[in-house]
Amino acid sequence: MLLTFRGGVDAGNKSEFLSGSVINTIGAGETLVLPVPFGCTPVVEAGERVLAGQVVAVSDNEYGASLSSAVSGTVVKATASRITIENDGENTLCDRLEADDPITLLRDAGVTDRFGFSAAQKVANAPALYIISCVEDQPYMVNVQALLSCRADEFIGGIKLLEKISENAHIVICTTPDLSEYASKISEALMEDERVQFLTVSGKYPQSWPHILKRTVTTEESCEVIGTEELCNIYRVFKTRMPVTEKIVTLSGDCMRRAEVFSVPYGTCVSTLIKAGTSFKREPLKVVKGSVMNGDAIYNMRSPIDRTVSSVLTLFDHQHRYAGESHCISCGRCDNVCPEGLSPGSIIKAYKLNDTATLSRLSVSSCTLCGCCSFICPARVNLPLILRSAQLMGE
Ligand code: SF4
Ligand code: SF4
Repeated sequence: MLLTFRGGVDAGNKSEFLSGSVINTIGAGETLVLPVPFGCTPVVEAGERVLAGQVVAVSDNEYGASLSSAVSGTVVKATASRITIENDGENTLCDRLEADDPITLLRDAGVTDRFGFSAAQKVANAPALYIISCVEDQPYMVNVQALLSCRADEFIGGIKLLEKISENAHIVICTTPDLSEYASKISEALMEDERVQFLTVSGKYPQSWPHILKRTVTTEESCEVIGTEELCNIYRVFKTRMPVTEKIVTLSGDCMRRAEVFSVPYGTCVSTLIKAGTSFKREPLKVVKGSVMNGDAIYNMRSPIDRTVSSVLTLFDHQHRYAGESHCISCGRCDNVCPEGLSPGSIIKAYKLNDTATLSRLSVSSCTLCGCCSFICPARVNLPLILRSAQLMGE
């Protein structure tokens, strides 16, 4: 049975962009720029030498996720928001992580999901249920498919580790119908495992968002969602005792013949990734860091890739552009696709009237800025911009 949720959008057919299931590695550039994640504090200074894998920004709380350098080299600049490291090209490794308990190890290794939420916190919560998200719900992205194909052994090892760490927890592995063949090795290996259950969920966007996946699959409140890459990283960290310093990123878009997947050192700039692509068919008009649904168009190709960037899209088609002015035609389509049950069309009207009481009544603060409404809007109204402004007005 296919499990689904109210609202959402079918954001596009991914099959024509299948990558051939290879994860390419990309070398670190001469200079890496590491944005300091929220909840971390830099612990290095300009002029200091660092080793590959060394923690450069430490988590402020015991269940967070620290940040480590992907290379050895010299710190050129360190501020509260960014650390710049000049790569010496020697890749001199730091000592392995020593923490004995799993939560400290995951924190020091900097394991997070693609939203930046730490694995240490999830494990520390000791949930009754882990949902493993093998869900690909966005146009162009093939990260999960590549990971299921290339890192199935790490995935299976990650499940076994979770079972060991959280002795009483059950595990539900969720896949979308188009990924079932890639998950076959995993389902065969775990078929006899009574603590593991497989479910098929819809590929509608935003099915992969943790709160939507929870809502779709369970009523259990003691529940944590672990991503495919996050699970593989948990396994890697326990096996190697080295921190996570690379991100799996899809390079795709309508300027490419097919999607390509790379393992990218944190701090690598977008231009380095784009240069590594081999299947371009035309020059992009727009480059988006993140997804077409809620990513950011970027104009500075030196913008760095961090642990929350899962895709870089090169786009030519104007399908996803917004109109210059907002001209809502009151068609009501946005109301039908909102997963939170909001009425974006009414929110726009209240916002334009500066009607904060109505904005509050319409629960504007519940908007997750998922972008479903703007994706479906025939008038191409820039809904995310208006919705965010409306949230600020209503605060
Ligand atoms: S962006 Fe907000 S209003 Fe629009 S569909 Fe998503 S949650 Fe609903
Ligand atoms: S989908 Fe666009 S045009 Fe239709 S009601 Fe919503 S904002 Fe207005």
